[in-house]
Amino acid sequence: MSELHKFLFEGLPVRGMVVRLTEAWQEILARRAANSHTGAYPAPVAEMLGEMTAAAALMQANIKFNGALTLQIYGDGPVKVAVAEAKPDLSVRATASVAGELPPDAALPDMVNVSNKGRCAITLEPRERQPGQQPYQGVVPLFGDDGKKLHKLSDVLQHYMLQSEQLDTTLVLAADDKVAAGLLIQRLPLAGEGNLAGAAPAGGASERADEDEIGLNEDYNRVSILASTLTREELLTLDVETILRRLFWEEKLLRFTPQAGMLGPHFACTCSRERVANMIRGLGAEEAESILAEREDIEVGCEFCGKQYRFDAVDTAQIFTSPDAQLPPSDSVQ
Ligand SMILES: [Zn+2]
Repeated sequence: MSELHKFLFEGLPVRGMVVRLTEAWQEILARRAANSHTGAYPAPVAEMLGEMTAAAALMQANIKFNGALTLQIYGDGPVKVAVAEAKPDLSVRATASVAGELPPDAALPDMVNVSNKGRCAITLEPRERQPGQQPYQGVVPLFGDDGKKLHKLSDVLQHYMLQSEQLDTTLVLAADDKVAAGLLIQRLPLAGEGNLAGAAPAGGASERADEDEIGLNEDYNRVSILASTLTREELLTLDVETILRRLFWEEKLLRFTPQAGMLGPHFACTCSRERVANMIRGLGAEEAESILAEREDIEVGCEFCGKQYRFDAVDTAQIFTSPDAQLPPSDSVQ
């Protein structure tokens, strides 16, 4: 089962989180694999997207924000766009568009940063946006301060977290065709409790002090070094208890109740067969029939999860003869 574990290091200004996506991640892969237009993701793309999905869940769980967090990579290579979204209820979905051939061992730069023009955008979209309110967006490049291409998504995101929150963050991410998982360690803001409950006023004294503290907190640095020893193999194959025991056996952890099941990370997309039926109804019977004159069925793919919906002549006739055929059509699949 997919799960999220939060913990604090007793007496230290450090907190942490582990996420393990299993069936939620497998559902994302299965929807894509079943799509006859796209087929399954090439392995390196699946790995990148899995890491993005795990990271989105961690970042969503790490902030107090009532809205969707979206992680987007705009690539300049064979992968044009990769998107992972996590909502406050920890539902996740993800998709990527692949335009070119990929070597089986393609690294991050080979996929999305061939000429160092790839970008990663993190967007926070408030659930109920006030008039005039814009979603928050931060953009970071896929290269380091020295201009060299970054090979790990975790390095890209650590850079973002440092920039946006002035807080040291250590991320370890990994994904294969069964599991997408991540470990996040973060230094707590100096203001402590107050900051845990909500952001400190921008540009305030505590924010400046947080900035001064970057890289200098010995407790955080020690925990970060321990966290960095976690290997991809361990993250993918070990259960969370074993991971935390192995990494932090000398530290005192305060554990929160793990979040699993519907309270934990899970897959969700707003698309459904019913919504697609409504869309076809919106096209009108004539248009639908003209599509069916040329092909076996009407095919609609969800752009957010890749799931493909098919309506053959019988299904389509049913849409226009069923009792609820008079319902107003929905305007789009979302
Ligand atoms: Zn969908």
